[in-house]
Amino acid sequence: MGSYEAVIGLEVHVQLSTTSKLFCSCPNKFGCEPNTNVCEVCTGQPGALPVPNHEAIHYAVLVGLATNCHINTRSVFARKNYFYPDLPAGYQISQFDLPLCEHGHLVISAGGREKTIGITRIHMENDAGKNIHSAGENVSYVDLNRAGTPLVEIVSEPDMRSAEEAVSYLKTLYGIVTYLGVCDGNMEEGSFRCDANVSIRPKGSTALGTRTELKNVNSFRNVQRAIEVEIARQQDLLDDGESVVQETRLYDADRNITQAMRSKEEAHDYRYFPDPDLLPVVISGEEMDRWRKEIPELPVTRLARFMDMTGLPEPEAEILVQNREIADFFEEAAKDANAKKVANYILGPFSRIANSQHKELRPSNWAMTPAALAELVGIVEAGTISAKIANDIFEDLLTGGESPEHYIRSHGLAQISDSSELEGIVDQVIGENPSETQSLREGKTKLIGFFVGQVMRKTKGKANPALVNELLKKKIGF
Ligand code: ADP
Ligand code: MG
Ligand code: ZN
Repeated sequence: MGSYEAVIGLEVHVQLSTTSKLFCSCPNKFGCEPNTNVCEVCTGQPGALPVPNHEAIHYAVLVGLATNCHINTRSVFARKNYFYPDLPAGYQISQFDLPLCEHGHLVISAGGREKTIGITRIHMENDAGKNIHSAGENVSYVDLNRAGTPLVEIVSEPDMRSAEEAVSYLKTLYGIVTYLGVCDGNMEEGSFRCDANVSIRPKGSTALGTRTELKNVNSFRNVQRAIEVEIARQQDLLDDGESVVQETRLYDADRNITQAMRSKEEAHDYRYFPDPDLLPVVISGEEMDRWRKEIPELPVTRLARFMDMTGLPEPEAEILVQNREIADFFEEAAKDANAKKVANYILGPFSRIANSQHKELRPSNWAMTPAALAELVGIVEAGTISAKIANDIFEDLLTGGESPEHYIRSHGLAQISDSSELEGIVDQVIGENPSETQSLREGKTKLIGFFVGQVMRKTKGKANPALVNELLKKKIGF
């Protein structure tokens, strides 16, 4: 970056997986027929009154506690006024002066170093609906199913200095909200989305440069790329003696560029004021105590424990921890089997197959149970099948969900450890290869591999290699 340094602050919107919306009893559900989960409140009808969803407040407090925030036990909902067709009330209900959580931080690890990133505030707000611009028709539609669904917005301090740090912060936060179980983590459906604020400044300067805001970047990879190209764009501007304009920009992933979308509003443009329809949110001491106890083991702690259990280095153990479903799956299977071997199946064939089928590495996408994986590890350890065969049948087990023992029996895959059966095959191989047999007898022990290979071919890989070795030694006498 030469003489500049990048400064990045993130605003992350996390959709809370409550049963109903934030201020009404409509279902909080994705993917339904347009405008079916709606009522007077979430469509902003005059006179309809909002009622706060206690479950959403509970979830938001959990996020605050897990990110080391101070929880304001009295916070206030405020109206953020703006006009947009997907916002029928003409205002969003958010929090402004007195948000639910403030002054938190997260410890991230990037480039092998730990770093603390400040969290300015976390507030609750309701989501808007969705405008659908139909291709071909000269018309736009509005779907209000999403209107009123509960969000928390987590605003970081401008503490990050590279795209890598930003992604690490996001992944850490993602791990926390999914471990808490307050967000389903589905980034494609927008349950976890991020606006990245990016500026640059001369190295050594402490003043902030003019920032641009990159809207709704919806994957970790795109966050990384969007920030990188935006830093480069700003640097080119400054190098050419031009200046950065404060504005909102959109990232175009196909072209890997950011484009101006609109000039950035200032807070006063929104004319925030306390919502007169809603009382302040008050959280009792008893609730705080109860909720504090609900915080589960979070990813950082689990990572250290998994590294201990498996002896794996951090980047690999990280894959097991990142998603709570995988972590739970691993942990469950490792109860009854060697943890390192269980981990290797998840990081090896499981990941590979998920990748090649373009499916997420999420056990709920697949039929294999943790007990089945533990069973498979045991079967290979017992020598009933070879590790190679286990790899070969892994995909069938993963998608079919059959018990490995049953599968191996019904496919006749059990390793041949019966010496009388193997003896015949060894004799046959010796008979077919007289000159190699002679050479081996004369001490060319490199040929052992050849003989074992021949026996494996005839048994489709099912011969017990130790036993084959033993029989060869006995029969050829090398
Ligand atoms: P707004 O809603 O107007 O975007 P917020 O204060 O809610 O404003 O969020 C601003 C975000 O931008 C925060 O994450 C903050 O850390 C970040 N930020 C503010 N100034 C800069 C800057 N100069 N460079 C990079 N990030 C910044
Ligand atoms: Mg913003
Ligand atoms: Zn409703």
